[in-house]
Amino acid sequence: MIYMDHSATSPVDPEVFEAMKPYFVDSFGNASTLYSLGREGKQAMEAARIEVASLINAEPKEIIFTSGGTESDNLAIKGTAYKLKNKGNHIITTNIEHPAVDETCKYLEKNGFKVTYLPVGEDGIIKVDDLKAAITNETILITVMHANNEIGTIQPIEEIGKIASEKKIYFHTDAVQTVGKIPVDVKKMNVDMLSLSSHKLYGPKGVGALYIKKGVRIEPLLHGGGHERGLRPGTENVAGIVGLGKACSIAKVSQETDAQKLTNLRNKLVDGILNSIEDSYLNGDRTKRLPNNANFRFTGIEGESLILRLDTKGIAASTGSACSSTKLEASHVLTAIGLKEVEAHGSLRISLGHENTEEDIEYAIKAIKEVVEQLRQMSPLWCGIKK
Ligand SMILES: *Cc1c(COP(=O)(O)O)cnc(C)c1O
Repeated sequence: MIYMDHSATSPVDPEVFEAMKPYFVDSFGNASTLYSLGREGKQAMEAARIEVASLINAEPKEIIFTSGGTESDNLAIKGTAYKLKNKGNHIITTNIEHPAVDETCKYLEKNGFKVTYLPVGEDGIIKVDDLKAAITNETILITVMHANNEIGTIQPIEEIGKIASEKKIYFHTDAVQTVGKIPVDVKKMNVDMLSLSSHKLYGPKGVGALYIKKGVRIEPLLHGGGHERGLRPGTENVAGIVGLGKACSIAKVSQETDAQKLTNLRNKLVDGILNSIEDSYLNGDRTKRLPNNANFRFTGIEGESLILRLDTKGIAASTGSACSSTKLEASHVLTAIGLKEVEAHGSLRISLGHENTEEDIEYAIKAIKEVVEQLRQMSPLWCGIKK
């Protein structure tokens, strides 16, 4: 099996798994207790907090551990909305966010908040002037993702952050797809809050973090014991947190060489596909995208059939995103960049990881070409176009 769906999730790095093991059976103590067994967990957790902070140039105190990207997004957005509801009721986001942001904004709309969804161009990137024009006296939060999970395009976060900080509006970014893949520096990016998730960077599932800049005040969503400065009560997932810390410390050392390698593999894949398959296109900007992401569309093909046939050839990839793969609507991201529904349905996302090789790429190009040709032979849509 050749795994090419790292934007959906990544395998746990064996080093990460080793680091986690002691915290299940031996050092299992509750990290909030005073005896040594609990203190061991507490110390490991605080060491992990330093590792996470260090990867994104934050202070350890600014890191709140959560159950993953979805929770971090919810905490940042609802936590701000609830805290600042007397100051204003307007939130600005984009129309290509991950459901963890998109659905949270829609929920708030049903509860008295107003949300502006900024459009993106064909390149998948918002226009900073649109953002400036959308700001009102009621705006309490701007939330714009760092890189998109479907097409990998990267937003001008630094610039957005400057505008937000001039206007004294909280700025949150969902950086789940970028942390561990490209440099993320919360100070340079001028962000007040940043979400990250362990399982997208070779850590375990079910753990993540929210960076909250010193001085930024939000409401917790859960109430209970005082864990994580009262912002995220509940007995800590020590093993998971240790795994996230280890994944971050590995990424700090390897992300630059990984990114270089993945960019080369990705470019080879893109050239190989576009040159060898007629009527094939790359969705999103060619360069302003994650090193490991390629998102193609093939005229006359239906994405789901493509995925299933690639699976029989031992390749795991996806259409739009893992989260929308069970829904039949076209991806909101692909329609946002101007694709027609039928074009969006003919898309394939390949997201590479550090275990992929040149041979994998060569095999994938061949396999995709074969499958696309087979499917087109049976496609009334394609025959209609080519007649
Ligand atoms: C995967 C993902 C999430 C959700 O993270 P979980 O840890 O799976 O909850 C949120 N945002 C983006 C951009 C993602 O890719």
